[in-house]
Amino acid sequence: MADKFEFQTEVNDLLNLMIHSLYSNKEIFLRELISNASDALDKLNYLCLTDENFKSLSYTPKIDISFNKDAKTLTISDSGIGMSKDELITNLGTIAKSGTKSFIKELSGDAKKDSSLIGQFGVGFYSAFMVASKIDVVSKKTNTDEAFKWSSDATSYEIEKTQKDTHGTSITLYLNDDEFTDEWRIENIIKKYSNHIPYPIFMDKTEYVAPKDDEKEPSYETKNTQINKASALWRLNKASIKTQEYNDFYKQISHDSTDPLLHMHTKAEGKIEYSTLFYVPATQPFDLFRVDYESGVKLYVKRVFITDDAKELLPPYLRFIKGVIDVEDLPLNVSREILQENAIMRSVKEQSVKKILSELAKFKQNDKEKYLKFYEIFGKVLKEGLYGFGNDKDAILELTLFKSSKRDGLISLKEYKEAMKEDQKSIYYISGNNENMLKNSPLLESFKAKDIEVLIMDEEIDTIVMPMVNEYDKTPIKSVSHADINDEIKVDEEQTKVDESKVANTLVKMREILKDEVKDVRISSRLSDSAAVLIYDKNDPDFAMQQMLKQMGQSDLPKVKPILEINAKHEIYAKLEENPLMTSDISRALLDIARLESGEPIQNPSEFAKILTKLMIKAI
Ligand code: ADP
Ligand code: MG
Repeated sequence: MADKFEFQTEVNDLLNLMIHSLYSNKEIFLRELISNASDALDKLNYLCLTDENFKSLSYTPKIDISFNKDAKTLTISDSGIGMSKDELITNLGTIAKSGTKSFIKELSGDAKKDSSLIGQFGVGFYSAFMVASKIDVVSKKTNTDEAFKWSSDATSYEIEKTQKDTHGTSITLYLNDDEFTDEWRIENIIKKYSNHIPYPIFMDKTEYVAPKDDEKEPSYETKNTQINKASALWRLNKASIKTQEYNDFYKQISHDSTDPLLHMHTKAEGKIEYSTLFYVPATQPFDLFRVDYESGVKLYVKRVFITDDAKELLPPYLRFIKGVIDVEDLPLNVSREILQENAIMRSVKEQSVKKILSELAKFKQNDKEKYLKFYEIFGKVLKEGLYGFGNDKDAILELTLFKSSKRDGLISLKEYKEAMKEDQKSIYYISGNNENMLKNSPLLESFKAKDIEVLIMDEEIDTIVMPMVNEYDKTPIKSVSHADINDEIKVDEEQTKVDESKVANTLVKMREILKDEVKDVRISSRLSDSAAVLIYDKNDPDFAMQQMLKQMGQSDLPKVKPILEINAKHEIYAKLEENPLMTSDISRALLDIARLESGEPIQNPSEFAKILTKLMIKAI
């Protein structure tokens, strides 16, 4: 007797999508089923090497594909770990991860693009319903006696006891049409997506037999043939691998249907022996900015798959990298602790990071256009590596690009340095979240006047990491919103003293009036048109940084007071000096205007409105 089950609601939604919306790239269902079979073989393989109960097991790890043209069925069988009844229910009736929700959210309506997302979201099995109206899964878990048959028409499913001689899983698809019972077509799909899975895939193939001398007609015979290479691509010699093969392997491990931008293949044979094959994708993975992102790097030890869930294999700022690390001298039962503390692993990680960063530097040098494409997608992530005190900061800085106050497009720090004025002491930047506002900030007036380039940093991550980057290639990097650059861009000291004396009384009054809101009111040397500007003390976080810290949950920040710098040459101060009656209102208005100009909210909008109205009436 079969037990009947309903799918989890999420699975129902997903199946509806599979059947009704995603139909342009149906062939990937085979990649997904083969990938699951390969995973199941990985799991069993690993147990055989590490678990006493499995050590005596003898079996041939392989995948078999067969089809029946008349019945329109296609069967994919593996000799892997298999599934118990409970596992059939959880694995093929529910979605454990937050997979579907994110998947459904990511959908763009472009069926081709959408179907390429399937594998990335851990919903691969269900893609078989794109081509089949009914699916049977017969499975026997290794080292158990019972076998079960899971059967579904995509509305609900049934499970019943059945007979199966060997452990593993056999999946039969009842196809909607006969496209996928064509021998040649299946062979091609396997070669395209699954050529380098580590296990052989067998299929009956019709082979042409040349006519013998006394026969006129050629004949054909059917032979069970291995279709894929089943070689660990990363172990092969670089020279023997074509770009196409590298790209195909990428698609297989990443479930991404777009060619990667770059591959980096290393075989180290020094003190520590290991191989790595890394890829830089050309598209952004959906979970790039999620805390629970999936690691894209698989760890092998002596060709045995260990884990694809070890985020510590590469630093988080390289989480966009996909690929394989295969280490020779590690025990197979490496635990998470070992991964973190093992000296060999640490060294492999260090070398890998160096390699990736240097390959990216070459990439930037050799193909700027393509590099820009890379940077647009992954630049933000890469810049996370500038946080803290890592050894790789210099190498990462070489890879960064920024907008500029003087040039279009993105420039590197090297390009900035090359264009520096002779007497220019530092690299200057302004940060915040609105490019237009930054470019027009009063803080840039003196730089514009002196024709000094300023880097425009309008990404959130800039605000966080740039204060931690003190220099590039021995040149200090400084924010224009900090007080300590005044000396570097001072115009004329004598003149400043003269200006100061002209507004002395006003300055004293303004300090008194604004003392609760600003640390100080000072004469500025960085303004030419604006009347006033807000800056921050060298060791105080500027406004963008304060916002950032708040967003990151630091709500107990002490109140940081800015410094109001005033432009002593501006006629408003000369007039106030003559006629100080309205100094209080005007000081407050000047402070609020300076706030607005630097993107800060004004503290008391209704008071600001009142003052402004009063001043307007006066003006009329
Ligand atoms: P994912 O492979 O990303 O986990 P899938 O939808 O492709 O997502 O598969 C769901 C789960 O079903 C797998 O994680 C696995 O536990 C189980 N499964 C699928 N196919 C097999 C198989 N051939 N042998 C053993 N388990 C399988
Ligand atoms: Mg899968």
